[in-house]
Amino acid sequence: MQSRHPHSIGLGMTSERNRARLVERVAESGVRDERVLTALRKVQRHRFVDEALANMAYRDTALPIGHGQTISQPAVVGRMTEAALSVGPVKRVLEVGTGSGYQAAVLAECVDEVYSTERIRPLHDRARKLLRQLGYNRVRLQYSDGSWGWPQMGPFEAIVVTAGGDSVPEALLEQLAPEGVLVMPVGAAGQQRLVRIERRGDGWREDMLGMVSFVPLLGGKV
Ligand code: SAH
Repeated sequence: MQSRHPHSIGLGMTSERNRARLVERVAESGVRDERVLTALRKVQRHRFVDEALANMAYRDTALPIGHGQTISQPAVVGRMTEAALSVGPVKRVLEVGTGSGYQAAVLAECVDEVYSTERIRPLHDRARKLLRQLGYNRVRLQYSDGSWGWPQMGPFEAIVVTAGGDSVPEALLEQLAPEGVLVMPVGAAGQQRLVRIERRGDGWREDMLGMVSFVPLLGGKV
C-alpha cells in the first residue's frame, strides 16, 4: 500500500539504502564506534528537516532548520556522539542546542537518558513534538539558555555542545561527572576546533578532534 505520509514521497531519496550509504561515508570519515553507526543507520534524518529538504537529508552536509540555525553534518554528529561515549559507562548525556532534535535522537539510541536545552522557542517546541511522535520518551527537553547547563539533572557523564563559543562555559564543566567528557566547538567562526575535554580526578585533559563549523552559542532566550 502506498504511504500517504509526506516524508515517504520522494522516490526513495529518503530510504534505508540512502541512509546506509551515508553511514558508510561517516565511517570512512573516521567514526568507528558501532553503537554510533547503528544509531545513525536507524534515525531517519529526513524527519528532522523541512519536507522540501528531505531529498537532501542523506547527504553529509549541514542543512538549514529555520531561525538561522542548522542541523549538523552527519559525520560531525557521529564524531561528537563517539566522543560522548568514549568514557566508561555513560548513563546521562546533556546536549546544549536541541535544534532539530536529531543529535538528541542519535544520543538516545546509545544511552539511557538524554537532556537537551534550546534557547529558541519555536525550535524547542518543534523538536519536542517530533521526538514525542517518534517515541523518544527518554529525551527530556528544556527551553533555556543552555550555557547554564541543567544543574538539577546533573552530573552528566557526557556533555555535547552543538554550538560554538570562545570558551567552554564554566557551569558546564561543573556539571560533568568525575571521569566525564565534554565535547564542544571552540574558537572564532570559521576556525572552530572541536575540543574534547575529559575530567580526570581534579584536573582536565583536553584534545582536539578536528576543525568544524557551527552556529554560535548565544546567551538568553528568544
Ligand atoms: N544539535 C542540533 C544542531 C542545532 S544548531 C541538531 O541536531 O539539529 C545549534 C543550536 O544551538 C541552535 O538551535 C541554537 O539555537 C542553539 N543554541 C545556541 N546557543 C544556545 C544556548 N546558549 N542554549 C541553548 N541552545 C543554544
